[in-house]
Amino acid sequence: MTTLTRDPAHFSDENYDLIIVGGGIYGVMLSYEAIRRNLRPLMLEKNDFSNATSLNHLRTVHGGLRYLQKLDLPRFMESVSERKWFLQHLPQFVQAMPCIMPLYGKGLHRNWILRMALLLNDVLSFNRNSGVLKEKHLPHGQVISAQRTAQVFQNVDKKGLKGSALWYDGSIQEFQRLLMEIVNTSAFSGAQFLNYVEAKELLTSQGSVTGVVAQDLETRKSYEFKAPIVINAAGPWCRDIATQFDKDNVSLFKKRLLLWNVLFDREALSDYALGLTPERGKGRSYFFHPWKNRLLVGTGEIVVAKSETETTVPDDDMAEFIANINKMAPGIDLAEKDILRVYSGILPATEGGDLANREIILDHTTQDGPIGLYSVSGVKFTTSRLVAEKALNKIFRCPTHKTHQELLDRKDKGSLSFKYDWNPTTETDLNILKDIVAKESVLHLSDLVLRRTSLGDNPKRALKILPQLKTLFQWDSQRWDNEVAQLKKELALDNY
Ligand SMILES: Cc1cc2nc3c(=O)[nH]c(=O)nc-3n(C[C@H](O)[C@H](O)[C@H](O)COP(=O)(O)OP(=O)(O)OC[C@H]3O[C@@H](n4cnc5c(N)ncnc54)[C@H](O)[C@@H]3O)c2cc1C
Repeated sequence: MTTLTRDPAHFSDENYDLIIVGGGIYGVMLSYEAIRRNLRPLMLEKNDFSNATSLNHLRTVHGGLRYLQKLDLPRFMESVSERKWFLQHLPQFVQAMPCIMPLYGKGLHRNWILRMALLLNDVLSFNRNSGVLKEKHLPHGQVISAQRTAQVFQNVDKKGLKGSALWYDGSIQEFQRLLMEIVNTSAFSGAQFLNYVEAKELLTSQGSVTGVVAQDLETRKSYEFKAPIVINAAGPWCRDIATQFDKDNVSLFKKRLLLWNVLFDREALSDYALGLTPERGKGRSYFFHPWKNRLLVGTGEIVVAKSETETTVPDDDMAEFIANINKMAPGIDLAEKDILRVYSGILPATEGGDLANREIILDHTTQDGPIGLYSVSGVKFTTSRLVAEKALNKIFRCPTHKTHQELLDRKDKGSLSFKYDWNPTTETDLNILKDIVAKESVLHLSDLVLRRTSLGDNPKRALKILPQLKTLFQWDSQRWDNEVAQLKKELALDNY
């Protein structure tokens, strides 16, 4: 495993080709695509890597069936090709996931309509498996009978059930390891990454970007980092950064949509992912992801105020979310006490309050801003690599020098995964964690538990193994208590 060096003082003596502000999946993919072009990127993240929106997604790599319903073919084709990219190049972290949507013969949710849609889905994605390992192949879709639906999903509402649409998408089992694999791969080829360093000010000379001033939030020291290109990939904060570095641009984030998924303290309802609607085929649909055989359900959404980066879900909205789930799967009787984790984040929405359709790649010179400043605002994790590729093609117009295969499909690629109840008891187990702490810029306990591993996705287990985790750090008891308190705060463990 590559060692991530965290040395802001040393990095401030270097010259980079580009600086990326934001260490979510978009920032990480921009670093990776820069490496493919033999460019030297520095990525700055004010918190820990992937602490915000990117940590909170539903862990689904979408092929874009829903875009087909809206006849948005370009978006559909992009999703299909990026789903394939993940299955082809990071197969150790992504698996084929069967999904069903029960059909009650209402509106577009009729057996014959879905049969045609799934056929079209298969025809348009005919090469979805080429170059992908056989065990990761996505079979063709079909409409299955009501009887088979009830076999694979016992809680299905059987009244009026006509069958189900069955299709396949990608499920990410170890999101944290997937993200760190891209970080480590890029670092191995020269990309540099600084967590807990906040970009504060843009440096320019005669109207052109020369770098940024940023503060190390651990030591409070400020540094100047040098590059002729700065890309603002700050997710929900990207309008703030645009304003700070140049001027506001409403197109980056017209409205703010708060979205959330909930991990319940229950087993999954089926081995298949379920796309369900509260009113038998009518209304907004919810997706039940059987992640590690647990009940992970998303996605609730509400439009929030313009400046809102707070991601707490209001009580009434959570109550309605749970009531809808209980309607969709009669007999499961979920209550707030069954919540283990709430994963929430902010995404850009249209004026009408719907999720934005496409990414925005803004060259700030088009609004008379500094030469060399760009902002990127994306909508989906699945297409983040493609958006990074588009952005770098636009900015640098240079060819790629390294293939994905050379970079990601190497012999020593990372493939760690943790069972839902994994408990590090042996020396070998502890060595796995020790290695991560030593090599992946782990500054705090919560970095290890929430953002380098999936240990925190089972909060009860995370608390149980604290004595073992304590042995990994050389902290005095005061520091350890503070770290544990911070972890509990991030896990929102005080709530139950
Ligand atoms: C509930 C939910 C479910 C989702 N489910 C899916 C799904 O199943 N599949 C899918 O494809 N997509 C999904 N998405 C969408 C996907 O998660 C997002 O599109 C993606 O994570 C956005 O990544 P980002 O890098 O733009 O933003 P972020 O991950 O928010 O990263 C931005 C980063 O910028 C940093 N930053 C801000 N200001 C500064 C500064 N001044 N200096 C340094 N750093 C700074 C922040 O700390 C943050 O880490 C979901 C989203 C949500 C909210």
